[in-house]
Amino acid sequence: MLRAARLALLGTLGALGLDEVALRTRWRRNRLLILGYHGVALDDEHQWDPTLYMPARVLRRRLQLIHEAGCHVLALDDAVRRLYDGELPPRSVVLTFDDGAYDFYARAFPIVETFGYPVTVYLTTFYAELNRPVYDSMASYLVWKGRGRVLRWPEVLGRHGDVALTDDGRRLVRERLWRYPVEHGLSGRDKDALLARLAARLEVDYDDILRRRLLQLMTLSEAGELARRGVDLQLHTHRHRVSLEEAVFAREVGDNRERLRRLRASEATHFCYPGGVTRREFLPWLRRSNIASATTCAPGIASRRHDRLLLPRYVDSAERSDAEFRGWLAGVAALLPRRRQAEAIGQFLEEPGAP
Ligand SMILES: [Zn+2]
Repeated sequence: MLRAARLALLGTLGALGLDEVALRTRWRRNRLLILGYHGVALDDEHQWDPTLYMPARVLRRRLQLIHEAGCHVLALDDAVRRLYDGELPPRSVVLTFDDGAYDFYARAFPIVETFGYPVTVYLTTFYAELNRPVYDSMASYLVWKGRGRVLRWPEVLGRHGDVALTDDGRRLVRERLWRYPVEHGLSGRDKDALLARLAARLEVDYDDILRRRLLQLMTLSEAGELARRGVDLQLHTHRHRVSLEEAVFAREVGDNRERLRRLRASEATHFCYPGGVTRREFLPWLRRSNIASATTCAPGIASRRHDRLLLPRYVDSAERSDAEFRGWLAGVAALLPRRRQAEAIGQFLEEPGAP
């Protein structure tokens, strides 16, 4: 169904009060809405990538809508257990945030805290431990910051010459920047230096971006502080990568779990697929790693009929309207056909460029 038609239908259902009715049905009561979030902007990140970042006011508005709909926001572990025991309270919702960005620590959590809602962070630990920007994202963000300029950089752009940073030009430069470290076997330190050089060429104040920790993960000590304040830290692989080999896949989960063990009182047993990449063969591997639940980026509302290792989520973004969000709280939006969310590319450890 076309997005416009779906939105119009949800608006009509809302105007008729049908989402209110749906919220009170037995159908909805037996279902769990797991909401997924990524970043909450510290500055202008939501203008760079509105599918990943939302302004703080949108998050606040979402939580207000959850409150007004009388939803029960449950802790993930409790919610999953109750889902399969058939003991969910009416209008159940779970809040999850992926990756563990610094903006969760600085911006999102203080908002969630004012509502008193439990929240899960699927924390990827490699960059949290390293405490430096994620190369691919930062390269893309810096190129966006330089939009409208002409980039002259023969070393990286080679035969492409000078590139005007229009939409097409930015795409070309991003691809060159993502491939360049692989072609030249750059280390993490080299990649950091390359980002600094890119920023200098674009006359972007990179020191300021680094100081304010845009697009960076929180440190493990900040994550530990949040855990002590009640945030549930769960698994998202160590390097934000999966593998088609069980031993490597299990090591990613194990390395991630080992870091979380130092921050949590109990063992982390809930998992979120990095980049939303799921494969059937992962399921027995996750079971052998004692994973109690795994969430995807496949839009939907969870019921007992779902495999607990393939739980759907509604990945929210700033581009969604109030009517659409209310439709999801009620569950009616899950019934309308829609396109499956694309998996992120570059999520396998076998691929070149993986950290
Ligand atoms: Zn992620």
